[in-house]
Amino acid sequence: MKHIGVDDIRKVLIIGAGTMGQQVGFLCAAKGFDTTIYDLSQPILDNAYASIEKLSALFVSRGLLSNDNAQDAIARITLTTDERRAGEDADFLSESVTESLDVKCRVLEKFGAVCPPHTVFTTNTSTLIPSLMAHATGRPPLFAAFHFHNTVSTNIVDIMPHPGTAAETVDLIRKFAIRLGQTPILIKKENHGYAFNAILMNLCDTALYLAAAGVSTIEDIDRAWMGIMRMDMGPFGIMDSVGLDTVLKINEIWAQQLNDPKAMANMEFLKKYTDAGKLGKKTGEGFYTYPNPAFKSKDFISTASVKN
Ligand code: NAD
Repeated sequence: MKHIGVDDIRKVLIIGAGTMGQQVGFLCAAKGFDTTIYDLSQPILDNAYASIEKLSALFVSRGLLSNDNAQDAIARITLTTDERRAGEDADFLSESVTESLDVKCRVLEKFGAVCPPHTVFTTNTSTLIPSLMAHATGRPPLFAAFHFHNTVSTNIVDIMPHPGTAAETVDLIRKFAIRLGQTPILIKKENHGYAFNAILMNLCDTALYLAAAGVSTIEDIDRAWMGIMRMDMGPFGIMDSVGLDTVLKINEIWAQQLNDPKAMANMEFLKKYTDAGKLGKKTGEGFYTYPNPAFKSKDFISTASVKN
């Protein structure tokens, strides 16, 4: 098995052009890597391209990139539905498809057959562990989880190998993360939800349960968290930005694999939103409405919902 070095990485392949595929793809392109983003249909890619242009403008407005560098980054991105073209010369693969073990295994198997033997494979899964899908890649030693958070607001990433990941692969991903301007957190032992997501899921799980059981309102639960912890977002605002369909998928995994009874009750609550097409920020409505959700108004914390 050939292990490449970080200087050998020229082309990055992103599988999945949704919320995270767009973010990770744009970040790689912004750092100078030729980046191909693959998804299932042209309308999905057209939509992704429009979102990447908005993301690029956000990087510029936040002072993270100059206008010229942002244009160069977009020019380095190829969007395609052609898996052979996408995979044939990829050096590094980052998978960001739907949070489903079955879908991820099928995608990793498909690209395992198309990509060269040296290509390093990574998954951006939020809750699954890489040992569940390592076999599908056809190259378990060259596979690990490499997990991004919101690339605009943080540069923390997680690296989580499975027991069969080669030490060289972990080292390569760590160096690649640093090239991307990220701070890697090494998860030494496989854990559903890495470190941060494991904490976050407990927070969101409990917040959903409190709202579903009628203990308090969505706004007041967020208000309590934001006011006490001095945060600019509460658990419901966070879930809206993740996407309620993705949160539902994560809850399904939590409910089935970890036997969490709260997650079961929360799924019913979430389904009321997802069945109505209210997926959060990406569809303009979730727990809040966008682009100006109530929790962003300057008097949100001081406006108590209980009137005396
Ligand atoms: P998303 O629903 O926005 O996007 C998923 C994309 O995968 C869609 O464009 C879909 O068309 C595509 N897809 C589905 N099946 C495919 C296939 N067979 N081949 C190619 N593409 C396929 O989801 P997302 O929020 O971007 O999440 C993607 C992954 O990233 C999930 O594993 C999720 O847990 C993880 N993640 C999400 C976040 C977040 O904040 N949303 C953060 C970190 C990690």
